[in-house]
Amino acid sequence: MTHSVPKVPPYPRSHLLAASGVAALLSLALLVFPSREVEAKKTYLNLELENGSEQVLQEKDDLRQALSSEEGSASPFSTASLTEKNSADTSAKQETPPANPLQKAVTVGNGDTLSTVFAQVGLNANDLHEALSSSKDAKQLSRLKIGQVLEFKLTGDGKLDSVRSKLSDLESIALSRTDKGYSFKRELVKPDMRTAYSHGVIDSSLFLSAKRAGLSHSLTMDLANVFGYDIDFALDIREGDEFEVIYEEHVVNDKQVGNGNILAARFTNRGKTYTAVRYTSKQGVTSYYNADGQSMRKAFIRTPVDFARISSRFSMGRRHPILNKIRAHKGVDYAAPRGTPIKAAGDGKVLLAGRKGGYGNAVVLQHGNSFRTLYAHMQGFAKGVRTGGSVKQGQIIGYIGTTGLSTGPHLHYEFQVNGRHVDPLSQKLPMADPIARNEKARFMQLSTPLMARMDQEKKTILAMNKR
Ligand SMILES: [Zn+2]
Repeated sequence: MTHSVPKVPPYPRSHLLAASGVAALLSLALLVFPSREVEAKKTYLNLELENGSEQVLQEKDDLRQALSSEEGSASPFSTASLTEKNSADTSAKQETPPANPLQKAVTVGNGDTLSTVFAQVGLNANDLHEALSSSKDAKQLSRLKIGQVLEFKLTGDGKLDSVRSKLSDLESIALSRTDKGYSFKRELVKPDMRTAYSHGVIDSSLFLSAKRAGLSHSLTMDLANVFGYDIDFALDIREGDEFEVIYEEHVVNDKQVGNGNILAARFTNRGKTYTAVRYTSKQGVTSYYNADGQSMRKAFIRTPVDFARISSRFSMGRRHPILNKIRAHKGVDYAAPRGTPIKAAGDGKVLLAGRKGGYGNAVVLQHGNSFRTLYAHMQGFAKGVRTGGSVKQGQIIGYIGTTGLSTGPHLHYEFQVNGRHVDPLSQKLPMADPIARNEKARFMQLSTPLMARMDQEKKTILAMNKR
């Protein structure tokens, strides 16, 4: 997290004016090509309006998938053990063909096989066989892609000394002559890390605007997840909503080859600005908090009724007192006197405030994209609580009763995550707490400069747009 900020634009694209340190250069470009910039923008707009609605549906599904596998988003570079290797020499070779007659480079063309490539450097079928049969891994050389470059080194008597090929910016394979045949080697380049800033204004969907701002699909999913509690990206997004992201970029030889985590972000939805900062606690737990250290996943009120006693716990199978059958109890029952107030466990939209079969008078709340709570057997609803409305955390939504399939006054309370019932008493629920008091100073040391950088970068953009 202490990587220095390079003063180069992370992308060559014109709309990523967000990049720092190139203000003068870019504003010059804007002065020279003002009309081209405007035309390009219009084209984007048309495209977005055509597929706008379909795109949104698609993305909501994506989002749910992503939410359910939330913790598995570790960077692919954090686990693999990588051989550190500078690949500057290989890329240089591709541009200037080797002058040494014993060194030859071949670019794979349409219809080429390893045997035709070998033939091009004067190696015969025996040489090929000897190389490929030297090890199991050696056969990977025969998987050729058009445009792939193979660099050969020959011995003085025209035999294969080594062949090397870059498979991607991060991976090369090589086969080198040894006393006993050939040895195969895979070389992985460890990318450098730098941070990048990106800014975008939404005109139809987050995904299209993020793409235009140069964010990858996975980074956009991360962004949606970070703010997923506060913003419903399928329903709440409005034209003019704005986002800013500081994220890690993986770089090899100044070329971006992938991205890492979002370090900080800001999202303005319908005039309200949300902030997020990634923080890893001293115990090693990573989560996003707002700039002041509050958790992004606002803690739900664990118990929606005060002064109640748990009369039945969550279980996957129990005898139902009325139906006299073994039935899962997908909630927690709180016994309390008739008329005891029931509170909303979190901010949410009222999906239902009305009769619901055996649940009697029930309220169903939707919290962000993934959470839903249900409150059943109520005597009645609190004033102003109605289907389609919204409630705040802690707001009284109704009163304990015994409507529906119920033997006495109690609240039956259910908690769902992505449509799955979970035990509201479970400690695993994402009811994250704010930054621990003894880590607050450490958190602010991280958060303050990130917020300051976003302020600064955005100021630069606004200044450029004014010209
Ligand atoms: Zn119950």
